[in-house]
Amino acid sequence: MADTAAQPIYLEDRIRKIEESGRLKHRSKALPTWCPGCGYYAMTEGVTLAVERLNIAPKDTVIVSGIGCASRFPFFMNAYGFHTLHGRTLPVATGVKIANDRLTVLVVGGDGDGFAIGGGHIPHAARRNIDITYLLFDNGIYGLTKGQTSPTSVVGFETKTTPYENRDVPLNPLMMLLSYGASWVGQAYAGHPHFLADMITDAIAHKGFSYLHIMSPCVTFDKTTNTYQNLGMKVRPMPDDHDPSDRMAAMALASEIDRPAEGLLYREDRPTLSDNLDAIIREAGGTPPPHRQPAAAE
Ligand code: SF4
Ligand code: MG
Repeated sequence: MADTAAQPIYLEDRIRKIEESGRLKHRSKALPTWCPGCGYYAMTEGVTLAVERLNIAPKDTVIVSGIGCASRFPFFMNAYGFHTLHGRTLPVATGVKIANDRLTVLVVGGDGDGFAIGGGHIPHAARRNIDITYLLFDNGIYGLTKGQTSPTSVVGFETKTTPYENRDVPLNPLMMLLSYGASWVGQAYAGHPHFLADMITDAIAHKGFSYLHIMSPCVTFDKTTNTYQNLGMKVRPMPDDHDPSDRMAAMALASEIDRPAEGLLYREDRPTLSDNLDAIIREAGGTPPPHRQPAAAE
């Protein structure tokens, strides 16, 4: 009689088969530990697709994170990773990029990490136009510490720290980045993972500081506000007549917080921090690094 008993399934065997398929060149062996349904899974897929499309090798990719649920991300990718201090992603990423600007540097973080303790660093990375990509996952709550209000929590939000409802007006990150001088500002939604992957690709491809604001539900600690159901009803496509070279038009769109538009709000081309440092080196009689000299262009 045939043996019909169920065979055990070993995780290691599953991982080996996935690795052999070649699909996970950019992923590490560590499996994500986020809550099932968290918006950060879309980040993992989006970044994986983006670096694959742009043909960026793992050895040329650096992912910098701070503290928070999003900050676990470098562990799940096959790339150089730097899990830094709370709110200090951008200074570290700036140092990495200045030291070797052939690297693709991605910064990932949440609303608490970026706009509370880390808020003072964002304007300077943006105005200097350092050529890095900042992926900010905004769920309007502190998830890692189990559900407190954050700088982007809406008025009326009831959490463990606001049992009588939040009374503080939330920050508007898109307005902030537009006024700080970011040269690429976009918005996406974790519930639309294919579009998110497209936006991450465009953000990385931009030469200069790119800021992608990603609406991303915390399914465990927010059951009432930034849920997939609520965000899915609010999010709308970018209006066809929006001109992304018009900063004031971008600000007008950013102010419509009840109808967030997905897509590119603003883009401009201007010298990056490395370009400006090279100009200073030349003016002082020095020579920029070989890979940034026109004659040695790759
Ligand atoms: Fe995601 Fe919230 Fe879980 Fe953190 S606590 S992993 S943000 S769902
Ligand atoms: Mg958060």
